[in-house]
Amino acid sequence: MRIAVLSDIHGNLPALEAVLEALKPYDAIWQLGDIVGYGPQPDEVVARLKAEGATGVRGNHDSAAIGALDTDAFNDDARAAVEWTAERIAPATRDWLAALPLRTEMKPFTLVHGSPRDPTWEYVYSAGVARANFALFETAYCLVGHTHVPGVFRQRGSRAEAVQIGPGTRHPLDGERLIVNPGSVGQPRDGDPRASALLLDTDAGTLDWRRVAYPLEQVQKLMEREQLPRRLAARLQFGL
Ligand code: ZN
Repeated sequence: MRIAVLSDIHGNLPALEAVLEALKPYDAIWQLGDIVGYGPQPDEVVARLKAEGATGVRGNHDSAAIGALDTDAFNDDARAAVEWTAERIAPATRDWLAALPLRTEMKPFTLVHGSPRDPTWEYVYSAGVARANFALFETAYCLVGHTHVPGVFRQRGSRAEAVQIGPGTRHPLDGERLIVNPGSVGQPRDGDPRASALLLDTDAGTLDWRRVAYPLEQVQKLMEREQLPRRLAARLQFGL
């Protein structure tokens, strides 16, 4: 089975469409949360994921947009975008987001937004954080998002190691336990503005990271029209 693994789409429909086109043919979509927030097309992104029968989890922005999480911990721009999203989304979008779990298992994978220890808030950005989290899921592999930076950590005895990856990296699924991040579709933060995604092939036993260019000016224009914070539109261009 070929699975498109997507995270942090953040209401960015052109990025989602470009990624899905580039990952074809795929048999399923697994998404790791933060489907909405920041970007200007939350309803359209959810409708597309629904139509594709995507499976997955809810992120902190999704929870905040449906009123299930306080926005106090968000920075000003993120809060403004979440509030815009909360007012904007259709009831069907809200219901779909509300039905998503914070954690799910698709054996041998565990799916969460942040980390197994704290699916809503924790960032797995270092080997130390990864190490603590390896003890907190049962499956061989865990898929996470939230950092907006593609990456993989592997378990080596009682330690965890970060593995360097870049666009075009392939990593094997050979039973060695991994925590895997596909990067962000809708707002990459590793200095590369192209949408980031992962193709997981369960037959071949491979993980392939992909970067896909998309018309980000379209998104910036829509954000301007909706008076979403300017900094959020500007950062798309720099991948930060
Ligand atoms: Zn996010």
